[in-house]
Amino acid sequence: MKKTTSKPNLIPKMYCNLFGHDYQVTKRVTYHVKEYACRHCKKELTTNSNGNLIELTPKFREINAILERIHASRMQRLKEKTFASSIY
Ligand SMILES: [Zn+2]
Repeated sequence: MKKTTSKPNLIPKMYCNLFGHDYQVTKRVTYHVKEYACRHCKKELTTNSNGNLIELTPKFREINAILERIHASRMQRLKEKTFASSIY
């Protein structure tokens, strides 16, 4: 029996199987945590607390959003502190 015609959206995955994923940083959450996406199949990864790359699940996306907010406010405070100390 003949198989159904090829699906074009399978090609990027085949490419990744052959050559490996081509991850690019899509978001810098903190200094240590980043989000990555594969250029070909759009698979997403993130760094977990141990520094390992894991799949970016909705749960981790949520955690990263919280981390990003904490990181941003910490940076903001640091900036204000530096600014204040440069006056005195
Ligand atoms: Zn890929």
